[in-house]
Amino acid sequence: MTVVAVDGPVGSGKSTVARRVAACLGYVYLDTGAMYRAVGLLATEAGVALDDEEAVVTLARSAGLHFDGDGRLFAGGRDVSDAIRTLEMGAAASRVSALPGVRELLVEEQRRIAGSADIVMEGRDIGTVVFPDAAVKVYLTARPEVRAARRAAELRAKGDQVDEAQVLAALLERDRRDSTRAVAPLRRSADAVELDTSGMTLDEVVEAVAGIARGRAAP
Ligand code: C5P
Repeated sequence: MTVVAVDGPVGSGKSTVARRVAACLGYVYLDTGAMYRAVGLLATEAGVALDDEEAVVTLARSAGLHFDGDGRLFAGGRDVSDAIRTLEMGAAASRVSALPGVRELLVEEQRRIAGSADIVMEGRDIGTVVFPDAAVKVYLTARPEVRAARRAAELRAKGDQVDEAQVLAALLERDRRDSTRAVAPLRRSADAVELDTSGMTLDEVVEAVAGIARGRAAP
């Protein structure tokens, strides 16, 4: 089993890159951020305080989160894939993901999903906590303005009204929370290859990451 761990801050290109690298290599793809977003969504809808660890963990445990074969995320019978893709749910995810009990539950699930399959797993703590022995570790970064512009374009593409300055502020706040929390903070694993994607096209990043993976993965 080969694990390709792709970590990095908001808007560094992780999701698009990881999905395409997985397709390139014929590996399974797992977006772990979607799981934290789903927990944030369910807690928000249920009116549960996002820092009430016991209540959020209880909710997450009974949520029945699962991905279908097309990578869509379900909570029980409901497809939440679109509802989680908002600035608000990014912020909610960042808050519930700071709760140790939530992380414990989702990390266990992430390891179970990886099972015996070759997988590209994307998140904040994949190379540091979820799979510290991953064969391939990549840490993607980009300048904050570049990341905000990418995130704004994504939100616009699905019809949201966006103010780029607001997107930048939300992104910096989320990075600050993610990298300063006590449990599994966002940071580059010492043995990860860091790639600044600011001046790179998507194709170039995919090619670079797939190349690193091909070079390091066990035959
Ligand atoms: O990657 P995405 O923006 O979907 O992640 C949403 C939030 O979920 C992140 O800001 C972070 O707080 C949390 N997260 C995490 N660990 C992961 C993936 C995401 O804490 N492995």
